[in-house]
Amino acid sequence: RAASYDYDVCIIGCGVGGHGAALHAVQQGLKTCIIEGHDIGGTCVNRGCVPSKALLAASGRIREMQNEMHLKAMGIQVGSVSFDRQGVADHASQLASNIQGNLKNSLVAIGVDIHVGMAKFVDNHTIAYGLPGRVDVGGQVTAKDVIIATGSVPFVPPGIKIDGKTVFTSDHALKLEWIPEWVAIIGSGYIGLEFSDVYTALGSEVTFIEAVDKIMPGFDNEIARLAQRTLITPRNIDSRTGVLATNVKQGVPGVKPVEIELTDFNTKEVVDVMEVDACLVATGRVPFTQGLSIDKIGAETDRRGFVPVTDKMEVLGKDGKPVPHVYCIGDANGKYMLAHAASAQGISAIENIKGRPHVLNHNSVPAACFTHPEVSFVGLTEEQAREKAEEEKFEVGVVKTSFKANSKALAELEGDGMAKAIFRKDTGEILGVWIIGLHAADLIHEASNAVATNQTIQDLKFNVHAHPTLSEVLDELFKHAEVDPPKQE
Ligand code: FAD
Repeated sequence: RAASYDYDVCIIGCGVGGHGAALHAVQQGLKTCIIEGHDIGGTCVNRGCVPSKALLAASGRIREMQNEMHLKAMGIQVGSVSFDRQGVADHASQLASNIQGNLKNSLVAIGVDIHVGMAKFVDNHTIAYGLPGRVDVGGQVTAKDVIIATGSVPFVPPGIKIDGKTVFTSDHALKLEWIPEWVAIIGSGYIGLEFSDVYTALGSEVTFIEAVDKIMPGFDNEIARLAQRTLITPRNIDSRTGVLATNVKQGVPGVKPVEIELTDFNTKEVVDVMEVDACLVATGRVPFTQGLSIDKIGAETDRRGFVPVTDKMEVLGKDGKPVPHVYCIGDANGKYMLAHAASAQGISAIENIKGRPHVLNHNSVPAACFTHPEVSFVGLTEEQAREKAEEEKFEVGVVKTSFKANSKALAELEGDGMAKAIFRKDTGEILGVWIIGLHAADLIHEASNAVATNQTIQDLKFNVHAHPTLSEVLDELFKHAEVDPPKQE
């Protein structure tokens, strides 16, 4: 240990990225501190994954109990289903505060010092922190290595002003302060989709406003079409695609509607003005890196505010070389804005600090949307794989299977689902796997672990799965993959 520093590692920001890095640092014998300006747990625990999944757990139960057809088919009768908005909201906030407490205790128990305040660089090894207007909070620490893990905040497009009541982001929506009769959701990515699931279960009408010409941009086209049939059409969700919400006028809950001006994405002409009760802005997230003074370490953020990094998570300096001893992980570097990617990058950064070179294979990081049913994937869409194949001159193989062929899914009356795998026909390399269906978010890991360990699709063909389980969906999927026979020399 370099005796001249207060700490071996100082981590700025305690979201899941900073927390994961701190736990691994201590396991590796490094004296570690965290500087956090708001809440331990960051976005995921307080304003993201955790409260949203609590709301989705409630919306899932409501859906199950409202699905009379399914229940009757199983011989079950229930009376009318009702819920208490505050009770649902409390479930989400309680869960977030419990998990926040657990994270804090886990850090304190292993000897991580937690300093409260917003941090900024003085130089590569010196970090100052404080809170505006609070002379009692603040100070300065030195560390041999520093990890930036400052995360992200919602992106709000120009022309939209948030009031937190009628025009709001996920930060406000998660508090579930009221249930609007009609809510427009700007953006149909995973955050917008998850909220559409919650709102429709709680009785709201939902309309998506989407800039590109289809909902669920970024999803595999075939999976998005099936999602339309299971997640959108049956819930009477309306979609306005190819339009931008260019001006949003706030309303008053229950009194005055929100006015949303819609502009054609291509012609830039105003095409409509919608009136709704509330508007959720779910247009992505931007890094929270202002105020870090990274110019003090010879680095600068990119145009969008992300901190550029090498594949070892080292911060890239203005001179294009890694800045010695400074790393950046999680949403702040923009490589893969998901909670588990942030903590995996944190572990990777610590490995590199320990002198054991480590590069995380981002192609193996799974992603999931926790709607009912869930959607999950690892790797490329079929469209992206075909583009790659065109450039690199190889043939693409695609295999698919339906949840209708799975006994467990049928027993649950959840046959609406499919899995598809996309692979190189010449080598069997897995390029992408997509699943939509019951527990898709849990099922994807067999595929993502296979990608992480460089297994080919043939390697998975003879895996054995317990019967009857949903995991047999992947058994069925990989069984049908045919690769080209080895070439004769
Ligand atoms: P954050 O969690 O954002 O934490 C950064 C921390 O740094 C914050 O606590 C902040 O206060 C602190 N900080 C910032 N600047 C400073 C500073 N200068 N000094 C001191 N402290 C500072 N991901 C999933 O994988 N699965 C999901 O199901 C999922 N659901 C989501 C649902 C919603 C509604 C949202 C909004 C996000 C969701 N995400 C999900 C994304 C996930 O929350 C983020 O990818 C993840 O939280 C990023 O972690 P992080 O550690 O990089 O940053």
